[in-house]
Amino acid sequence: MPSTTHATSKTQHFIEQEELYGAHNYHPLPVVLNKGKGVFVWDVDDKRYYDFLSGYSAINQGHCHPRIIETFIEQAQKLTLTSRAFHNDVLGEYEAYITKLFGYDKVLPMNTGVEAVETGLKLARRWGYEVKGVHKNKAKIITCAHNFHGRTTTVISFSTDDSSRRDFGPFTPGFEVIPYNDITALETALQDENVIAFLVEPIQGEAGVVVPDEGYLPKAAAMCKAANVLFIADEIQTGLCRTGKMLACDHEGVRPDIVLLGKALSGGTMPVSAVLADDEIMLTIKPGDHGSTYGGNPLACKVAIASLQVLIDERMAENAAVLGEVFRAQLLALNSKHIAIVRGKGLFNAIVIDHPDKDMAWEMCIAMKNNGLLAKPTHGDRIRFAPPLLITRPQIDECLDIIKMSLEIFG
Ligand SMILES: *Cc1c(COP(=O)(O)O)cnc(C)c1O
Repeated sequence: MPSTTHATSKTQHFIEQEELYGAHNYHPLPVVLNKGKGVFVWDVDDKRYYDFLSGYSAINQGHCHPRIIETFIEQAQKLTLTSRAFHNDVLGEYEAYITKLFGYDKVLPMNTGVEAVETGLKLARRWGYEVKGVHKNKAKIITCAHNFHGRTTTVISFSTDDSSRRDFGPFTPGFEVIPYNDITALETALQDENVIAFLVEPIQGEAGVVVPDEGYLPKAAAMCKAANVLFIADEIQTGLCRTGKMLACDHEGVRPDIVLLGKALSGGTMPVSAVLADDEIMLTIKPGDHGSTYGGNPLACKVAIASLQVLIDERMAENAAVLGEVFRAQLLALNSKHIAIVRGKGLFNAIVIDHPDKDMAWEMCIAMKNNGLLAKPTHGDRIRFAPPLLITRPQIDECLDIIKMSLEIFG
């Protein structure tokens, strides 16, 4: 195992407790946090860090954003859950707000991201049978290699990551995986008339912030339209201003048939996800066909409105666009021979470490942690840099100094 470097006894205590009593389904960096504010988090010894993971982009608005927390507390003291057996006086307000904001007829509220994905897949299948007229149980959905859409048994059925799938079979049929950023492969796959949907991340996040060629998304969307196939954009990580626009699809004027949102939809306070679509698709699901006990609860609805409004009022898309350019330019200017690739859009960026030792990305993250910046390797040699979107120019400069200093571990 890679090094963990001199953890304090306090830190060690919490890590050992998790190790002893928690399932071992994660391998966290050896840091134990107990406070967050804006772009910063603090560990149990009061050491301060820049958060360059932002809860996998669930915390675009920054930690404990005062407006979101205020809304949260206010609604939590009033009404938290009704279930959908009864109406509540916030759900409709939220539904009107989010559908107008994104320009869709309807929203279906869920909780975790993967539930939004599952909902999108079920909607696509319903639409495929009832509107497109595909034969019973023949519907096929196209997905991309190296995708990440969550962890349910159906969603890992079309994962290409071995550790996500190993010994979790048998898998759900009805999916075809094609290479990402490959228009020809999509064209071929679309020739099958049983294809009803194409599920895609506008930028592949977990794969290491893989940005497709310019033109890929609009071409793919146009081809889907021509083939009467739904274009489903998983914007759970790329959406909500992360890449410099409200949705990553907005960069090239793509309007997906189904949009999946999650993560920053609650500013990191609770699991809130959403599926947006027009009536032709959304109304194929009838009362009783699909749902969730917590989906659309009044607390989540109020928090989601505040989380979206904060992104807009504080111009976080604009900030992400401007500072993202600065960040990538300065990373490139470091001219480090140990950074093979710098890529990204807005404040959604990654570097690929170029070093024969496969553990060096982890060691780099340990060094950055020691220097006051938290990031996590993904897929071995990639490090994602995704700070909260309210980060300032001087803070970005300080973070670049930390990254530069940390590169010294390479000698
Ligand atoms: C995180 C993520 C998901 C899953 O969200 P959960 O809340 O962890 O279930 C799905 N799709 C993408 C693109 C994600 O980044």
